[in-house]
Amino acid sequence: NLPTIYVITPTYARLVQKAELTRLSHTFLHVPQLHWIVVEDSPSPTQLVSNFLADSGLTYTHLHMLTPKDRKLQEGDPHWLKPRGAEQRNEGLRWLRQKAAADGGKGLAFDSAVIYFADDDNTYSLQLFEEMRYTKKVSVWPVGLVGAMKFERPVVENGKVVRFHTGWRPNRPFPIDMAGFAVSLNLVLANPEAWFDGNAEMGFLESSFLQNLVTMEELEPKADMCTKVLVWHTRTEKPKMKREEALIKQGLGSDPNVEV
Ligand code: UDP
Ligand code: MN
Repeated sequence: NLPTIYVITPTYARLVQKAELTRLSHTFLHVPQLHWIVVEDSPSPTQLVSNFLADSGLTYTHLHMLTPKDRKLQEGDPHWLKPRGAEQRNEGLRWLRQKAAADGGKGLAFDSAVIYFADDDNTYSLQLFEEMRYTKKVSVWPVGLVGAMKFERPVVENGKVVRFHTGWRPNRPFPIDMAGFAVSLNLVLANPEAWFDGNAEMGFLESSFLQNLVTMEELEPKADMCTKVLVWHTRTEKPKMKREEALIKQGLGSDPNVEV
């Protein structure tokens, strides 16, 4: 009876959305006892995501939470200006807490369940999920291709995390990318004040949440004492639409009824 992994994924409508979700779902289909919580950044559930999830073959929950306009990155803003996905991850947490309360906190799957925040554009090794599955409080591991470095990682000495290998503000409380940790559901239930701060300063979103849950000494290093990269912070290029736009002007654009 494996502990359930609740994967919370914020996602938003854009040309590459279905491609990202397809890639992600094909990874998750290989992971036993995984429950996917997809949280759309939209005012209501979209047809595209609803149909996609229904056909995915995964166990899932479909939520939505629109990022308030003043917190949303605008076209042309540098991508680091505001945290992305904070409201959606909080909505996933809210759903889990509410479900736990409804189950009297004693739901079977909840006994040793784990929460992981998986952005829709990263690349995840299957091994990663087995590393995080038996998280007691908070597990950590390296993240590849992030922070303008080959990888960032917790530095482990004598089995304990003693500092972090990062190129930028190493003295942040937890200089760890979202992809670099998992938390036990019970720990989250025991700390109802732990949320992501959507107004957090650049690079402090992860800290805003983890700060309320653990200390550095308590972190559980995984992936061979943080020596293996099992997740990559890949980013997908925005597709060019120059030809499409030219064709639209001639009335020859791609059929809008075909879902991409
Ligand atoms: N995201 C979102 N709304 C937005 C922008 C991003 O829900 O307006 C989601 C996105 O789909 C991803 C996560 O938030 O799952 C992180 O966004 P992104 O990958 O763009 O962040 P970065 O890789 O630049 O840190
Ligand atoms: Mn990303």
